[in-house]
Order: sequence, then C-alpha cells, then structure tokens
Amino acid sequence: MHILVANDDGYLAPGLQALAAACSELGEIDVFAPEQNASGTSNSLTLHRPLSVYTASNGYRYVNGTPSDCVHVALTGVLGRKPDLVVSGINNGPNMGDDTLYSGTVAAAMEGYLFGVPAIAFSLGRRGWAHLDQAAIVAGRVIRELIVRPPARGPWLINVNIPDDPQVASAPWRVTRLGRRHASEPVIRQTNPHGEPIYWIGMAGDAREGGEGTDFHAVANGCVSITPLQVDLTDHAGLPFWRDWTAAAST
Ligand code: MN
Repeated sequence: MHILVANDDGYLAPGLQALAAACSELGEIDVFAPEQNASGTSNSLTLHRPLSVYTASNGYRYVNGTPSDCVHVALTGVLGRKPDLVVSGINNGPNMGDDTLYSGTVAAAMEGYLFGVPAIAFSLGRRGWAHLDQAAIVAGRVIRELIVRPPARGPWLINVNIPDDPQVASAPWRVTRLGRRHASEPVIRQTNPHGEPIYWIGMAGDAREGGEGTDFHAVANGCVSITPLQVDLTDHAGLPFWRDWTAAAST
C-alpha cells in the first residue's frame, strides 16, 4: 500500500502529522503539503510561476504552492509511480456542505481522484485540534477498512468529517449528503496604516440545510460523516428546462 498524504493547512500542521502517522501504520507514505497555510484555495493551480519542492527534516516534502499543486506535482513529476490512495487532512475545522467548494483539503483529495487515484478528505468537526488524537484513530480505521474492503467501483472520492469529541473513536459512521450553509458573513472592513480601506473575508455561515441525512446533522449528533463526492457540476434536473429555453430562443 502506497499512500500520498497531503493537506491545506501546511506541512507543519498537527493534523497532517497525525494523519501521516496513522497512514504509516498501514503502508508506505509520501507527504506533499503546502509550505504555508493554503486553506480556502479550492482547486487552484499555480500557473504563473514555477513551483519548488523542498524536503523537511522529517522527510515530508513541502511545496510553495496550493494543495492541488502539491498532489499534481507529486503525481506527475516526483513520485514516478501512481499511489494506491491519496488522503488529505486532517483539516483544522469542518468541511461540510458548501465548504467543499472552497476547501483546499477536499481539493487535494480531488486532485488525486481526477488522476484516477481513490481519495479521502478528512476534517475535524471543530477548529483547534482538541481531540486530534481521537480523530486520527478514526481516520486510520476508515483507511484500513477501505484497504481491507476496497470499493468495487472506482476511483472514488469521499469527504469525511470527524466530530471533535474525546469519545469519537467509538462513534458510529454515517453516510451523508452535503448540507447547505447560509451565505457567509459580510466582509469585515478595516483601515490600513495609509488610511485606505482593507477587507477581511467573513466567517462561513451556519447550516441552512442541516436536516437528517446531511453531513451537518451527522456531526452535530456525534457521528462520523462520510459523504461520497462527484465532480460533475451539471444541473441534470435543469437540462430539460434549458433545452426548451434554448429551442425557443429567437435567433
Ligand atoms: Mn485548512
């Protein structure tokens, strides 16, 4: 088993170390992570400057780029062979509902998936790493289960959110769909030393659709949330409407 480990919080993040340690008990690992915190960078690739890969004293590789850059460079330029699995995380905070569109944690896993490698994104239900050791036990069990019972269909991409709970190692696992969030809080306006306005992106909104069956609901009820993801953004239900609309266009 050869596992590529990545994240978006940076190569020094405790969540990466915990996940890499869990993976090293299950196979051979390579770690590629951003040099700096790259949370919220989604699937962005660095196209307008070259990337460098450095090796830390613990053997982790770090890249002066995004989470997607890390996995992209590892898969296409450095590893020289396709890993069996890409895992990303454990993120400092949840990636549920609409978060998945912005998440660098999910994006790093998705980059593996786009190259045909099964992939898992792991996130902690709350910021702060309070019970990271317990979350890492859960992550290790999920990975081991997927090694022992590999899904027949593949490649696949799953998004796992683990409640930040001291008893989470014995929590049930739930398969969920993504919930929805309220729109995020407005930007916070401040003034820089030159008297010019500057803006901080505000916090993510609360759950808007967090009913039973969603990732929000599972984590709020102390369960490990496992959401299978796909990349196709097509509004399939909307296709008939748009076909009719296009056919009636007055061209
Ligand atoms: Mn992050």
